[in-house]
Amino acid sequence: MSAVQDCLFCKISAGVIPADVVLESDSAIAFRDIDPKAPTHVLVIPKKHFADVTDLMSNDPDLASELLTLATKVAEHEGLASGYRIVTNNGEDAGQSVAHVHFHVLGGRSLSWPPG
Ligand code: 5GP
Ligand code: ZN
Repeated sequence: MSAVQDCLFCKISAGVIPADVVLESDSAIAFRDIDPKAPTHVLVIPKKHFADVTDLMSNDPDLASELLTLATKVAEHEGLASGYRIVTNNGEDAGQSVAHVHFHVLGGRSLSWPPG
């Protein structure tokens, strides 16, 4: 199995740690962020462990397409037709705090730009 010991999102993916799951596919899972930054704040992760988007693209770029497909389904599911943002923080300078690649899907309010 691909689960990495002590990886929070591997544990969520395995159901060891509970999460509010919104949607799921064969390869990915979407669940609500525990500390939401917008009315809709959902995290889309691969079930298989990759540290960040660089790791993902180096090893399984097709999976990135599947993650973005699920992210767009989340937006549809959450009724975000007027707009939403997909964000991934990659590495320390970007503020990545969980080292299992994830896409944030944010919406439900007007989102400012640029981010900090
Ligand atoms: P990052 O900072 O790595 O881009 O995003 C990590 C996200 O994971 C944060 O938005 C944080 O609120 C969320 N998070 C951290 N721990 C948990 C948890 O145990 N459950 C859920 N659902 N989200 C979490
Ligand atoms: Zn992991």
